[in-house]
Amino acid sequence: MGDAWRLGSILGIELYIDKSWLIIFALVTWTLAAHYFPAQNPSTPPFFNWALGIIASLLFFASVLAHELGHSIVALKQGEQVRHITLFIFGGLAQIGGEPDKPLKEFLIAVVGPLTSIAIGIISGAAWWIIRESSPSFASLFRYLGIINIALACFNLIPGFPLDGGRILRALIWGLTKNFRLATRVASFSGKVVAVLLIFWGIRLIFSGLTLNGVWTIFIGWFLYNAALNSYRHLMIKDALREVRVENLMITNFETVSEEMSIQQLVDDYILRHRDRGFLVTRDGLVQGIVCLHDVKKIPREQWHTTPVRDIMVPKDQLENVSPRDDASVALEKLTAKSIHQVPVMEENRVMGILRRNDILSYLQLHTDLGTKG
Ligand SMILES: [Zn+2]
Repeated sequence: MGDAWRLGSILGIELYIDKSWLIIFALVTWTLAAHYFPAQNPSTPPFFNWALGIIASLLFFASVLAHELGHSIVALKQGEQVRHITLFIFGGLAQIGGEPDKPLKEFLIAVVGPLTSIAIGIISGAAWWIIRESSPSFASLFRYLGIINIALACFNLIPGFPLDGGRILRALIWGLTKNFRLATRVASFSGKVVAVLLIFWGIRLIFSGLTLNGVWTIFIGWFLYNAALNSYRHLMIKDALREVRVENLMITNFETVSEEMSIQQLVDDYILRHRDRGFLVTRDGLVQGIVCLHDVKKIPREQWHTTPVRDIMVPKDQLENVSPRDDASVALEKLTAKSIHQVPVMEENRVMGILRRNDILSYLQLHTDLGTKG
């Protein structure tokens, strides 16, 4: 989360805001304060329009957040994990754990976002209608919120993966054909088609003089294209690893280190000698934690002689682990989601091996090169 600020948490979901959001905030505020509000109410003073612009931008931000919370709450209710919500330049992203296992579940999680936006749009529209004569300035604020939320819903309903509409499409095809792979292929193909159309539309806009809108549309198209491509690759990886178990990829001849060992000794005798990044820390044959290169870097070099491994290791209660019979794709997801390089493979408290991200990736590379799978 290097490029994002943490805002807080709701229902156990961490909220982040990406720094790229500032660009949107400035752009929306400026467009509203310098163009939209003056056009709506020519007699209001500029400072008032700027105040309205800032309030409207914040409410737009709250609307995107509500949309993502909609997805998240339904996902939680369906038994899925929701790790965090990040608001970034193109809107919001709720990080929902794993791929859905049932079409209906995917449909419900996807559809609730646009429904939330439509509901906010309708409420804002009603507020505009009620106060449009008594308070025209605030009415134009609600008018904007109404339009932007309906636009948000419409954009997200475009049937191209990974937009909500693409997820709905995938859930429908999946439900009808019972073929998840086919459904994803169709949905991500339509995502790419939509992306290419957006890029052409953007070029058209530039030629008709609307340069900023055009560049923006191309930018969104390009983003969507990459997202569609990546989500498809993600599925291909899952597919290539489908019949592969953790026990097929784990290493079993691993070295362990003790808690009392100094960091200096860990570096000299283990990390450098074995050219390995991570080691299990054990006491009487039982795992106490894991220590890796990343942890070593937290301590200044002068203290390596005096600091024991215990002080820097990730202790066992914070440790992720996998079982030998787990799906390799599930394990890879776990490693990627937590940005960790290796996990111990455990069976009833006993360590059977270590699974390293690199080993999974080189397996995938090998199979791609041989053309045996995927
Ligand atoms: Zn959505």
